[in-house]
Amino acid sequence: MPSSVEPIMELIDIRKQYGGGWFNHQRAVRAVDGVSLAIKPGETLGLVGESGSGKSTVGQIAAQLLAPSGGKLHFNGTELGGRGSRSSRQQIQYVFQDPYTSLNPSHTIGQILEQPLAINRIGEGAKERKRLVLQMLHKVGLDESHASSYAHQLSGGQRQRIGIARALMLNPDFIVLDEPVSALDVSVQSQILNLLKDLQAERALTYLFISHDLNVVHYMSDRVAVMYLGGIVELADVNSLYEQPLHPYSQALVSAIPAGDGQVKRERIVLQGELPNAAERPSGCPFQTRCVHAHERCEREQPKARAIGKGHLVSCHLYD
Ligand code: SF4
Repeated sequence: MPSSVEPIMELIDIRKQYGGGWFNHQRAVRAVDGVSLAIKPGETLGLVGESGSGKSTVGQIAAQLLAPSGGKLHFNGTELGGRGSRSSRQQIQYVFQDPYTSLNPSHTIGQILEQPLAINRIGEGAKERKRLVLQMLHKVGLDESHASSYAHQLSGGQRQRIGIARALMLNPDFIVLDEPVSALDVSVQSQILNLLKDLQAERALTYLFISHDLNVVHYMSDRVAVMYLGGIVELADVNSLYEQPLHPYSQALVSAIPAGDGQVKRERIVLQGELPNAAERPSGCPFQTRCVHAHERCEREQPKARAIGKGHLVSCHLYD
């Protein structure tokens, strides 16, 4: 994909802060701290990091489910307001880790899938909307009988197919997939991932794919951004990141991936300690409390993103 292609979704210095202020004596938590990402049409950008790194918050802000505390969001070149226009809301959809919690237990699957059509006045009458629902069930590998089922009657994999179907009902351009297979058995995961790939190719979809599982992200992504304590520490195309990770945190994550058949086993880098609480964010480099390369400068100065090769960005003083 040419690098000159205009991004479909652009996050510019996005910040999200909780707490703090005059009437709240708790320290402010910077859940997202200046994230900038430009996602190109038709690509899958993987977003990886430990639980608590802020990746889901970034996804929710990109999908306009959460308003940022600062920064801008552009979609197809237009700045989005905090709540989003109706058309951008249709074009941007979100798939949850376990759609069970977001599927109304008292509605049939048919009703759940028809609802976005009815709200947005898509399809001429109930008959046409039913046809669109049944067509979508086939598209995600289910059959017509599932239209009269309830969420609790379906398996985890079937429920995720419904979550994907619901996201597709309004024919979006951009979908945030938030840990879409983490709740599923390994045998079902690959079916869902392949379904997502097929749908992307067929509908020219753009994905922001959020996961803590580096194998899954490797399989799905064109480029990968690594998050740590609310910030992006490295961004690169998938092969560069997995073959030559530059940031000490990315190096540790990649070293933990088991070697495949015929691959040379990397030396495992074991991360020291836990991800710090975002309310007790270290000064200087956020990774300094766990980094084996930390030096005096890392304690006082937060590293800025710098380009090392084409499209490969890293935030670490080792590369200044
Ligand atoms: Fe480690 Fe310093 Fe680089 Fe941070 S800036 S990752 S502490 S070497």
